[in-house]
This record gives sequence, C-alpha cells and structure tokens, in this order.
Amino acid sequence: MARCFNGTILHVNLTSGELSIEHPPEEFYRFYGGGGGMGVYYILRDIPVGCDPLGAENILTFFTGLPTGLPISGQSRLTINAKSPISGAIGDSQSGGFFPAALKWSGFDGVVVRGKSSHPVYLYLHEGKAELRPADHLWGKFTAEVDEILKKEIGDEKVEVLQVGPAGEKLARLAAVLNMHTRANGRTGMGAVMGSKLLKAIVVQGKGTIGAADPKALARLNREGSRSLPDITDVYGLSKNGTADVIPFQNALGTLPAYNYNEGTFEPWEQISGETMTSTILKERDTCYACVVRCKRVVETEYQGRKVLPTYGGPEYETIATFGSYCGIAELPAIALANQICNMYGLDTIGTGATIAFAMECFENGVITTEDTGGIELRFGNVQAMLEIVEKIARREGFGDVLADGSAAAAKKIGGRASDFLITVKNCESPAHMPQAKKSLGLHYAVNPFGADHQSAEHDPMYEEGGSDLYYNRLERLGLDKVQPSYSMNEEKVRFCYLTELFYHALDSYNLCQFVWGPAWTLYGPDEMAEMLRAATGWEITVEEIMRVGERRLNMMRAFNAREGFDRKDDKLPRKFSLPLQGSGPSAGAFWDEKDLEHFKDVYYALAGWDIQSGNPTPQKLAALGLDWIRR
Ligand code: SF4
Repeated sequence: MARCFNGTILHVNLTSGELSIEHPPEEFYRFYGGGGGMGVYYILRDIPVGCDPLGAENILTFFTGLPTGLPISGQSRLTINAKSPISGAIGDSQSGGFFPAALKWSGFDGVVVRGKSSHPVYLYLHEGKAELRPADHLWGKFTAEVDEILKKEIGDEKVEVLQVGPAGEKLARLAAVLNMHTRANGRTGMGAVMGSKLLKAIVVQGKGTIGAADPKALARLNREGSRSLPDITDVYGLSKNGTADVIPFQNALGTLPAYNYNEGTFEPWEQISGETMTSTILKERDTCYACVVRCKRVVETEYQGRKVLPTYGGPEYETIATFGSYCGIAELPAIALANQICNMYGLDTIGTGATIAFAMECFENGVITTEDTGGIELRFGNVQAMLEIVEKIARREGFGDVLADGSAAAAKKIGGRASDFLITVKNCESPAHMPQAKKSLGLHYAVNPFGADHQSAEHDPMYEEGGSDLYYNRLERLGLDKVQPSYSMNEEKVRFCYLTELFYHALDSYNLCQFVWGPAWTLYGPDEMAEMLRAATGWEITVEEIMRVGERRLNMMRAFNAREGFDRKDDKLPRKFSLPLQGSGPSAGAFWDEKDLEHFKDVYYALAGWDIQSGNPTPQKLAALGLDWIRR
C-alpha cells in the first residue's frame, strides 16, 4: 500500500554543520498528525527553559502534514514553529504555495533546525539528501532576486525556495518567512528566528512521489469538491475575489477595523473590496498545489510612478485591512504597493500594517511628533507616510527601527500613553476581525497560546442565527447544536470557541488549508476531512480522533507557555478592547468587559480540563492525552 509520508525527518545543527536523519515509527505520525503537532513536540522536548528566542538554543521547525503533496485541494501547507521573539511564548505560523508539497516530494516530512551558523547558509534538499551551502552572495537581496539566483545556481527552474528577506536578516521581529516570494509564514516572528540562525533559505527539489492508501477515494473526494465549489457561497467568493471578498460582509457586521480599531466600519470600504480589486488591478488568480479554489491574487498596477509587479502577488484581506482601513487609507494601488514592499523585504503584513496604524494613533494624540518620526506626518489617511514608514521598517531606518519589532516593543520604547493604543495580545497585533462584536473570537484571542489570531477558532457568525443549514449541520458534528443570537456571548459560545479551536489545531497538525477543510463554511466539512485522511493514510481516522490530535497540539502549546512562565494573567485583551467602539456602524458602542472575560476564562479552562487558577494543563490532563513525557 502506498504511503503518504516519507517517514523521514531531517535534523540540522547549524553550529556544527551536522545533518542527521530520523525515521520515527508510524505511530508517531498518527499521534501528532504532522505540522505544528510535530514541530511543537521537538521544541517542547528539546529547548532549554528561558532560552533566548534569537539565540542558538532556540529550535526552528518546518513541518508538512500527513496529506501534504497528495493531489487534492487545500493540502499544500507548511507550519513553522519556534519560541517567539515577539511574545516569548510558542510561535506558530502557516503558509501555502508549492513549497510544502515539494518539501514532501524531496524526501522529507519535516526539518528541525538547531544552533546558529557562523556565516549565511542555505539548505538544499533533494531526493532524500541534504546539504548546507554558503549564502553570503544572497544576503541583503530582495526575495524575488534570491529566488531567481537559486534557481539558476541549481539549474532547475522548478525548485521551490523558502527564505527570509532583508527584514529577517536584520532581526526585525515583524519579519516573515516567504516561499514563492508571495506566500508568508507571517505571524509571531519566525522570520527573525530564521535570520538569527543565518539560515537564509531552504531550497527543495521535489522529484520524488508519495501516494495515497486509497487513490480512488481521494480522486472521488476531489471531484466532489470541484463540483460543490460554486454552491458554497463563501468559498466561491474566495475563488472569484480572493480573501478580500469578505470586506462587504465585515463592514456590514461592524467588524472591519478602522482607524486602529477605533471603529468597526470603514466608509469608503467599496474602494478596497475584493470585487474592486477584481475589476481594477487583478492580473490573474493563483493557487497552491492542486487546489481548485485558486484564492490567491496576482495584481499589476502602479502608484505615483512606482510599479506594482505581478512577481510579488497581490494583497490578501488582512493586508488590505491593516494597510487600508486600520490606517484610514482607501487607495488600493497604494495598499498593493505596501504589500509588494513587505514581500520584497520579507515582512508580516498584518503585524506591519497594524503597527503603522498604532503609530498613527500615537501621532494623532501627540504621543509622538515629527521630531520622533524624522519629519513624517504619520496621520490616519496619509498614504505617502504609510508607504515611507513601511520601507523604513523593512530597512530598520530612523523611526522604522523603533517599529520593526512590532507595536508592543515600540510602545515600551516610546513610553507615555503609547500603550493605550495597542491592539496586541501576547504582543501580537490583532488581525482584522473585531472581538468586540465577534465575542467568542475575543475569548479565543485572549486564551490562544500564540496571541491574537483569526485562524485558530471559528468565527461567531457561523454559529449565530440567520446562517446556513450546511454550516450548522457541520458544526453539529462537533457537538454544537444550539445556534446562538447575533453578537451574543454566553457559555454555549465558550463551547463553540473551545471545540472549534480543537478542530483548527488539528487542521494545523495535518496542515490543511482552513479555506478548504473546516468545521463550517469551507469546501469540505469534518466528515469529509476524516474520509480524506482515511484515503490518504489507510488508517481508520474518525472525527473524534481528529479532535484528539488537535487537543494534543493545544495542550503542548499551553504546556510550553507554562514552562516559560505564562499563565492565566497573560490571557487578556488589550485595554482598548474594553472601551466602547466609536463610529455609527452596527458594532458602535460594543466592548469587552474585563470581568466578563474572567468569568468566561473560568468556563473555558474547566472545559479544557485545566487548572482554573493558573489556566495551565494539569498533569492528569497531559497524561490523559499521552503527553506525560512533558517536563514541568
Ligand atoms: S484555498 Fe487558497 S490558500 Fe487555501 S490551498 Fe487553495 S489556493 Fe491555497
């Protein structure tokens, strides 16, 4: 029977240059699922407590999932983990593209990187072999240039390149890791960790093959997915207009953050919508390996004489919101240019756009002036200022150097009232989904081990009245059968937060795209996901097993954080979220009450089986999940 994974994990010690290969047993793959499940396993097992995230002791892991590389939509995903230099807690981020599938086809399921090189290097993987090569000639170059040089150097246009850009080299905590110079593992500072190790890139030549245990069942599921795509409105919208298709919905709901999260609607939203992008600057749609959704955008335009090239893809919803509505900016070509600058230098667009919006609010309130910014009038709506400061962050120049480690670090340096304007949880900037109105998502932002994140639990509207029967039926499969009123928060919403969170943790273990496989609005639901995993592996995987894999990952992350001194006190929302939202939209006046949050945390910790006082997993809980090896 064909096998969908290689059974091969590469260990790289950059200090000694030693490369070694591990062949874990099949049970290891089934127990952790791959992706973040496996990555966090090595981090938790091997790094010393309290290590410097940018020091040699931190471990950086790159993992595919069990189905990665098989011919079905939404499987080509890569998870990167390390101790985060932004939060000091566990770091976690995902990307798509072709790199993840090609990594699997190169003969490896994952790579665990330790130590720190004495000079820039890149790792080249091909046909089950690995070698470290010098990368001094790549240092300081833009991501597309590096991609081109490496393809020529290896003599194969089809190799896939994962890399840090100049921002990661300069250890900007906002740095991302990019593949195809358009797909970012953006959040939690993984680019800075890779840069700190002087690991410039990983290049994979994917000539090998892997196979599904039941290729016919996989092909049938694939055909069914293609057929149902036009009928699932949300997925069809993604396909047609990209992730920015959600802008009208977000604005109507009052959850499109504007002016650094002061308002939940943005009056000129139409100018930055996915539909506007499609009808103005879109050049083509792009995809990840084998995905029929094709939600990725490639744009071509110019802004005041500066070209925006198709080479650097196009902006996602989060990018459009952070550089757009967060900053009070409605010029799509300028936002596309900001996206290009981030991709050239390797910056996380969410963190960077949100940090600029934070700085704009500081400026508007006189906390910083042109003396601090080097003459830049950093006001909401000032497009030139936004573009100027993005480049300065990328190069760590002038005031950009103050912002390059993110808004929480900048607030400390600026002092005064700056921290009043933060929208961070565990130092990570909140993405473009407002927890003041999506209440259970607010609880999730607070308790999530790696800070505010929009892709690790389902969003409230899926479990609120006026929704879709298909989505409700899928949620019922997870035990969620009591649809709730709009904008509500209660104990049932805590269950919704927790149970969908477990499902999302499983998605990030198996490494599945959350637009294709999910608990509600996606191309396939939980039962089809179990069916696909059975077809891929030949194992009798059930929805219950999927939830268990997710629970394991969540508990490992919390156990890691506990070791690093995190507990209940760190599960909090920024002060700003406790103030009523301004503006006139449907969410105006909404806020998160701090006492309510403490109450819902009690309910959440009890559901998770954790200690209520500390919010950390108990030894009994870890043992029940087969994780009693975890050091306390
Ligand atoms: S839905 Fe979009 S992000 Fe997800 S796999 Fe398909 S093309 Fe990639």
